Amino acid sequence: MAKIQMTTPLVEMDGDEMTRIIWKWIKEILLEPYIDLKTEYYDLGLVKRNETDDQITIDSAEATKKYGVAVKCATITPNAARMPEYNLKQMWKSPNGTIRAALDGTVFRTPILVKGITPYIPTWTKPITIARHAYGDVYKNVEMKVPQGSKTELVCTDKDGNVTKETIYDFADSAGIIQGLHNKENSIASFARACFNYALDLKQDVWFATKDTISKKYDHTFKDVFQEIFDSEYKDKFDEAGIEYFYTLIDDAVARVIRSEGGYIWACKKYDGDVMSDMVATAYGSLAMMTSVLVSPEGIYEYEAAHGTVQRHYYKYLKGEETSTNSVATIFAWSGALRKRGELDKLDDLVRFADCLEKATIQTIEDGVMTGDMYLISKLENKKKVNTEEFLREINTRLAAML
Ligand code: NAP
Ligand code: MG
Repeated sequence: MAKIQMTTPLVEMDGDEMTRIIWKWIKEILLEPYIDLKTEYYDLGLVKRNETDDQITIDSAEATKKYGVAVKCATITPNAARMPEYNLKQMWKSPNGTIRAALDGTVFRTPILVKGITPYIPTWTKPITIARHAYGDVYKNVEMKVPQGSKTELVCTDKDGNVTKETIYDFADSAGIIQGLHNKENSIASFARACFNYALDLKQDVWFATKDTISKKYDHTFKDVFQEIFDSEYKDKFDEAGIEYFYTLIDDAVARVIRSEGGYIWACKKYDGDVMSDMVATAYGSLAMMTSVLVSPEGIYEYEAAHGTVQRHYYKYLKGEETSTNSVATIFAWSGALRKRGELDKLDDLVRFADCLEKATIQTIEDGVMTGDMYLISKLENKKKVNTEEFLREINTRLAAML
């Protein structure tokens, strides 16, 4: 069979530890035999980031803006322990944070469902995609502990020097705590557009929720910005695609989500997304089966796994011990990026390859062949635990038969 040809390069961002090992094997075993892979390669491994003073991360984000589609391996976000381990010049920032800021993007996380793993909420027969706003609120807060007797105020000085004040609280009878939050209309607007664009891509409804009844200015602005952008830019396209935008209160949303069958995008403010994405990931079974896509308001896409570099498995691998690390989310990052590249460049073969790669991966697990994490939770009767590399070879057997 002739190899599938690509026209535009895919931006390839390599990473760290166990996922870096898996990255190389996915390419060798599942991609390169079938595709004449055309990528612009950026090594975002911590060694290279340190060597280039993190310029490589910025370059990879610029390349993503240029070409429109990237695929990223998990990377180490340095902490104190990594300073001596990698002999770092500084504690470099999270590459994901840098790339997200450069693209003004929103992260969408979607679980991959397979037979044999029942979600804790059995009615969830379709995936719930969580979209998490990436800016502001409590993550960029200013807070104070104040002594008893303090009078606290919110003060705004506009560009002409006019001052507006509101009392927060008069702490006459007790010491206390206060917190200042902010968000920006342009960031909320980008978030809304990324959600609506991705919904059109997936042909799924968007749900959005805040606490606008209590927070009549702050949360209400989120509600208003979403509604204005939807009405003026997306309503017709949604009608045509047969999908809906649905707004409700956050507590009502939670109740409806639990009763739902899934199959929609749930847009969350930053804190809600932080909490709800962990709940949803756990309920669907495994972090190793969660994909993540960064989408910019202009429709630039970066695909990755939601999990990290699986450090504990990597140290076992370095000692020469056998590992059984789940590569599914990383495989789906590649299939997602290749499919998007194929759609943009009108390469039907590439789109079909991406579909087959995903089918072969799911088929392997549903045939009972899986890595240790899945083996522990799968209810299939004839299940077999395989190691990291065997799992990829098993997928390849099925992929080869499909192509
Ligand atoms: P992690 O790499 O996601 O792993 C945490 C644990 O979850 C693992 O020890 C493993 O449990 C299980 N797990 C996660 N992915 C798995 C997979 N594919 N197959 C099987 N088991 C899997 O999180 P972490 O250990 O907290 O972080 C490690 C490094 O990753 C850190 O340096 C962090 O900065 C980085 N990180 C990067 C990203 C990213 O690039 N997007 C995201 C998160 C974390 P068992 O050990 O019990 O088998
Ligand atoms: Mg969280």
